[in-house]
Amino acid sequence: MDTLIDIRGVTHAYQTKHGPLPVLDDLNLSVPEGEFCAVVGPSGCGKSTLTRLVAGLMKPDQGEVFLHGEKITGPRKTVGMAFQNPVLLEWRSILENVILPLEIVAPGMARADKIARAEHLLDMVGLKGFETKRPSELSGGMRQRASLCRSIVHKPEVLIMDEPFGALDNFTREDLWQTMRDLRAAEPFTAVLITHDLRESVFLGDQVVVLSGRPARTQYVLDVDLPSDRTIDILYEPTAVNMLHDL
Ligand code: ADP
Ligand code: MG
Repeated sequence: MDTLIDIRGVTHAYQTKHGPLPVLDDLNLSVPEGEFCAVVGPSGCGKSTLTRLVAGLMKPDQGEVFLHGEKITGPRKTVGMAFQNPVLLEWRSILENVILPLEIVAPGMARADKIARAEHLLDMVGLKGFETKRPSELSGGMRQRASLCRSIVHKPEVLIMDEPFGALDNFTREDLWQTMRDLRAAEPFTAVLITHDLRESVFLGDQVVVLSGRPARTQYVLDVDLPSDRTIDILYEPTAVNMLHDL
């Protein structure tokens, strides 16, 4: 499998009025194409910083970030992002929100094809019938579903998610984990998921990268060895529990 994301020796400090704040220290991470990489670590350890580096929104002080072997030097349209509080445009319908990235990345695409693509994804995540609703008419979980559709509608090279399920209640969160797996089964993509939920990392990740320390370093990389068609019940089985304990 080809390596899609390669982070080599990344060290970064923010310049603050109190002087430099070292955040990442010689961080290395490699994500093969099609794999789902979950990154866990305590609050403030530099996880969001890592997503900005991969999205090309920031340059590290030292080290390099490669996508498909190409060094990232600026923001990339081929990176999809999802966040804890999805910003959906209130004056647009759910369907029009999902279509938005296509208008930017694929302006020449026929409108009917854009609609078909968005409708297909909304159907996949259980939002059929909500296409014409406004974001405020949906629950938090539904808005996050719509936002996930928007993040992958243009088939980005990589989807980066920064604690996307953090604001949801446990039931909604577990539903979304399953939806995430269904989406991936239907349409393979490479993803980096930032989370501080170990169960989430094991359920969704093909590998789990544990960051800790100040500045943060890669502490462990765990290859998740669970069936590829795992359902949420797996988290209640001894194998999964042992994996968590091994961390
Ligand atoms: P995490 O996402 O793991 O909680 P962040 O990457 O957001 O961590 O932040 C890591 C550290 O860097 C924190 O101490 C945070 O306060 C600090 N930090 C984040 N962004 C900036 C910034 N733009 N300027 C200065 N300090 C920052
Ligand atoms: Mg963060």
